[in-house]
Amino acid sequence: MAVTRKRTTTERGLGWSHQQMRLRLLAELKDGDPCARCASRGVYHPMYRALPARMLEVDDFPPRSVALRLGIEPEKHLSFRTCNRRHGAAISNAIQRQKRALGMPSRYDRW
Ligand SMILES: [Zn+2]
Repeated sequence: MAVTRKRTTTERGLGWSHQQMRLRLLAELKDGDPCARCASRGVYHPMYRALPARMLEVDDFPPRSVALRLGIEPEKHLSFRTCNRRHGAAISNAIQRQKRALGMPSRYDRW
């Protein structure tokens, strides 16, 4: 018997388009294309088609949290997963430091 299930908003909307974007960017990747995250800080970090796709991910420029605040749609580029995650952690640490310096309560972390 076929089971139908309501799809979540994420599955229909964001999740789907994000997946399409990822597939498109991976298909367009050429050997030697720079990791976008490293390129944004002036470092050439080449990517190769032979890399396992799970090592690469769609990165937002500017970061999604900043883009939402500015009301703009971030540009999407491929970065190494590790470079993207390291940068994300650095940004959120910087925000936390800044908030503490300004005496802002930490429960308003999500912006
Ligand atoms: Zn990189």
